[in-house]
Amino acid sequence: MAQQDTIAAIATALGEASIAVVRVSGEHAFTIVDRIFQGSNRLSNAPSHRVYYGHLVTLEERKRIDEVLLLTFRSPKSYTTEDVIEIQCHGGVQAVQSILLEVLRAGARLAEPGEFTKRAFLGGRIDLSQAEGVMEAIGAKTPLALQAALSQVEGALHQQVEDLRRTMIQTMAHLEVTIDYPEHDEEDITVQRVRNDAQMILERIRSLRLEAERGRILREGIKIAIVGKPNVGKSSLLNRFARTNRAIVTEIPGTTRDVIEERVSIDGIPLLLFDTAGVRETEDVVEQIGVQKSRETLEKADLTLLLLDTSRPLDENDGLLLESVHRERSLLILNKRDLPLAVGVDWQSLALSRRSLAYSTQIEADQGKLEDEIKQLVFGSELGDPTFLANARHLSLLERAEVAIRRVLDDANSGVTLDLVAVDLHEAWILLGEMIGETPREDLLDQIFSQFCLGK
Ligand code: GDP
Ligand code: ZN
Repeated sequence: MAQQDTIAAIATALGEASIAVVRVSGEHAFTIVDRIFQGSNRLSNAPSHRVYYGHLVTLEERKRIDEVLLLTFRSPKSYTTEDVIEIQCHGGVQAVQSILLEVLRAGARLAEPGEFTKRAFLGGRIDLSQAEGVMEAIGAKTPLALQAALSQVEGALHQQVEDLRRTMIQTMAHLEVTIDYPEHDEEDITVQRVRNDAQMILERIRSLRLEAERGRILREGIKIAIVGKPNVGKSSLLNRFARTNRAIVTEIPGTTRDVIEERVSIDGIPLLLFDTAGVRETEDVVEQIGVQKSRETLEKADLTLLLLDTSRPLDENDGLLLESVHRERSLLILNKRDLPLAVGVDWQSLALSRRSLAYSTQIEADQGKLEDEIKQLVFGSELGDPTFLANARHLSLLERAEVAIRRVLDDANSGVTLDLVAVDLHEAWILLGEMIGETPREDLLDQIFSQFCLGK
C-alpha cells in the first residue's frame, strides 16, 4: 500500500479533564513530533511501545506549550498499522488545541472523521465490520450496546461470517466439480448435499439476522406503542415507565391528542415508548389526527402494549383494537386489577388465548413483572451476551443473502440445473462477503481448486 500523508487529531473529548490525547499517524509521525519535542531522548529512531517524558514546544520560538508523555507505536503494531505517536497532555482545551496546532505546523495534516480507523481497515488490520464496531463503540449509549460493539471490534461478527463463507465455499466446490465433470454421474448426491448445506446455511443466516435485529434494538431501543381506548390508563402506564409527568394524566377521555414519546431504559436496554390517542372512530378532527398517528405508530412498533380496563365491561372498541394489533408482537395489559373485575367470561378467555398480563399502574410490583415480560418478548428466553451491533447495511445484506439461499433450496428441490444453483449460492457468498468488506476476488476459484484434487 502506498504511503499516505501523516494525520493528526485530538483523540479525546474536548473539555476539562485531567489528560487529553493527540494522536499522530503516518510515515512521518515520529520525525514530525520530534521537531516540537524537548526531552532527554530523541524520537526519530525511537522503538515501538515506549513512553517518553518531556515538553512540547512551539516549532519556531521553542516556547513550552505543555508537559507531555509520548506513547510510541511502530508500524504495523499500531491502531492504524502505521507509525503512531500518542501525545498525552493536560486535559484543558487550551493545551490540547495548541498542541494539535503545533503538530500541524510541524508537518501533519488534520485527520478527517474516522480516518484513523479507515487506515486501520486499509492497512488490513481490521475488516469493515470491525471498523463499524469502532464507530458503534464510540456512539454506544448503553452498557450492553458498548459490550456488543467491542465484541464486534474484536472480530465476533467477522468470525461468524467467515465460518459461514468457508462452508459455502466447500458446497460451491462440490457443485463446480459436478458441473464440470457430469460423467461422474454424482448429480443426485450433489443435489442432496447442496440441499443439506443450504438448509444449514439458511439456519445460520437466520440466527445472524436475529442477533442483528437484537443489535439494532440495543442501539436504537425497543419501539413500544401503547394503545387502548381513552381512559384505560395509557398515560398512567407511560408515567410508570418514565416516572416523570410529561404525559398528561387526566380523567377526560380523548385528552391525549397526539403521540407522546418517552425514552427510558430497563437493564441497559433503551425503550422508546409511544403513548397514542385511542384508536377509535371519532368526529373530532384534532382527535382524528391523533388516531391517524396511532395507526402509523402501530406499524413501526417492535411491540405493542394494548391496554384493557378490566374494571369496566369491554366493548366493541376494545375488540377493534384487539384485531388491529399484531398478534405475535403484542402484549395485552389487563389494567386496573386493583379494582373489581367487570369483564365477562368470554373476554377473560380471549385474554388467556393471547399474551397478557394482569396489571395495575397502582401496584408497584406489577411494573417489574411487566418489564420482565417485555424483555422476554423482545429477546426471547436467552438474553445472552450480544456479540455485535448490526447496522442497516448488515441487515440488508443478511436479508438478501437469505433470499438467495432460499432460492438455492427451491432450486435444489425442484431440479433446476446445477449451474443456476451455483449462481444463487455464489450470490449469497458475495453478499456475506460485503458484510466484512470483502469484494469478490479471483481467490474463490483458487480456493475451490486447491481444495479438490481433480487428478484422481
Ligand atoms: P388514558 O386516557 O388511557 O391515557 O388513561 P389515563 O392514564 O389518563 O388514566 C385514566 C384514569 O384511570 C385516571 O384517573 C387514572 O388515574 C386511572 N388509572 C390508570 N391506571 C389505573 C389503575 O391501574 N388502577 C386504577 N384504580 N386507576 C387507574
Ligand atoms: Zn392518556
